Amino acid sequence: MARTNTRRMNLLRDEFFAEGRKQSESDDPEVKVLSRCWLCKEPIDYLADPHSTPDSHNLDHFKTVRDFPELQEDPSNFLHSHRACNQGRGANTPSLGLGEAVADWW
Ligand SMILES: [Zn+2]
Repeated sequence: MARTNTRRMNLLRDEFFAEGRKQSESDDPEVKVLSRCWLCKEPIDYLADPHSTPDSHNLDHFKTVRDFPELQEDPSNFLHSHRACNQGRGANTPSLGLGEAVADWW
């Protein structure tokens, strides 16, 4: 299986985090809500480093990388999530191998 370009993915992940943090600081409630975790709808801790705590930011993929590897680096497929929520979602996936592959990017 082809490995993604890690440097490019890191850049996209940084940009996506910055976008979410900006949204979370917006005075517009409709913008602010976009920064929330798409899984539990609660605010994400954008003051913490990404992937450092359970409430910290994690880049999730709407269409899973396993089924849509070509969308792995497509920003339109990115979703803001808590690290804990994303990991919980991964644990519910039948294939344990996928969870390990996703964790590998971090
Ligand atoms: Zn969450």
